[in-house]
Amino acid sequence: MKRLGKLANRLADAARQLSLPLVGAPPAAPMVQRAGHRLMRLDGIFVEYQLCRSDRRTIGFTIDRRGLTVTAPRNVPEARIDAALGERADWLLRKLDEWRERAAHAERRAVRWEHGGSLPYLGEDLLIRVDHGRRAPPRREGRELRIALSAEAPTEEVRERAQGWLKSEARTLFALRLAHYEAGFGIAPRSWALSSARTRWGSCSANGSIRLNWRLVHFPPHIVDYVICHELAHLREMNHGPRFWRAVGELYPDYERARRWLRSREASST
Ligand SMILES: [Zn+2]
Repeated sequence: MKRLGKLANRLADAARQLSLPLVGAPPAAPMVQRAGHRLMRLDGIFVEYQLCRSDRRTIGFTIDRRGLTVTAPRNVPEARIDAALGERADWLLRKLDEWRERAAHAERRAVRWEHGGSLPYLGEDLLIRVDHGRRAPPRREGRELRIALSAEAPTEEVRERAQGWLKSEARTLFALRLAHYEAGFGIAPRSWALSSARTRWGSCSANGSIRLNWRLVHFPPHIVDYVICHELAHLREMNHGPRFWRAVGELYPDYERARRWLRSREASST
């Protein structure tokens, strides 16, 4: 029983995990209440979804880059909702995969991972320069990212090496910015890690750990700061209510502009 209790707690934690979606949440329509995220298993795969209660009569599903949203009548018990999801498991899992693929494709299109391609790095473009010769770790020189590869290296290796460099830059930079804001806020996450999530920029789980998407390193530093402050504010307020936004504002007063920037960027890349 004790072990089951632990597992239930872990699942509840995961379900309470708050994430910053790739697009801003739509303005709450009247009659629709944002009731948080839930987690369930479909064909052995954990699927997180946003549950919204509304005055509609049937259970409806929406899948977009934010993931799965389920809208259900107010009086339908959660077990019935899970059963309805289970009935459509094949379709839901296929659609979720398609969205993930689409997001991956959009990124591949956005950056040409090859000699002469340009790579957004902290809001500025770095030119990818491939030097053939002795293999060496990528290094930045002014506005260039120089990648040394052997002449026979497959083109795919340019992307792998450049992304490896971006991730290590992200790790260093995010750690510095987290330390900076923690000091001002007086609360630190229990741990933090980079994520490669396709559908969110950052997340904070109820156990106090923060995840930050390494792709944020493409964006201007003030956007990285906003996402870090957003997740740190969740350590105090695990919701998106007025007190949460006040906490964000303490850390990052100009947050509205950063939110708009993130939203417009997503809109223009689709
Ligand atoms: Zn949030």
